[in-house]
Amino acid sequence: MAQECEKLTTCGFFRKYGEVKDLACRGFINQYCKGDKMDQCKRKEYSRKHGEAPSDDMMPTGHNIRL
Ligand code: SF4
Repeated sequence: MAQECEKLTTCGFFRKYGEVKDLACRGFINQYCKGDKMDQCKRKEYSRKHGEAPSDDMMPTGHNIRL
């Protein structure tokens, strides 16, 4: 079943890196943004904790992206 994170259109990470071809990046997008780990996304956790979105460069795993 196709599923997508409800923040897909507003998420800074996805907007910046959604089209990037980097394999690791694609893997995270498939697991989190478009997969069953979307509820474990660290960006969402950060937003809940801090009341604001994290840097666009924070990946759903919570690590900073390195391309
Ligand atoms: S990084 Fe997290 S908040 Fe952003 S689209 Fe992916 S799952 Fe959703």
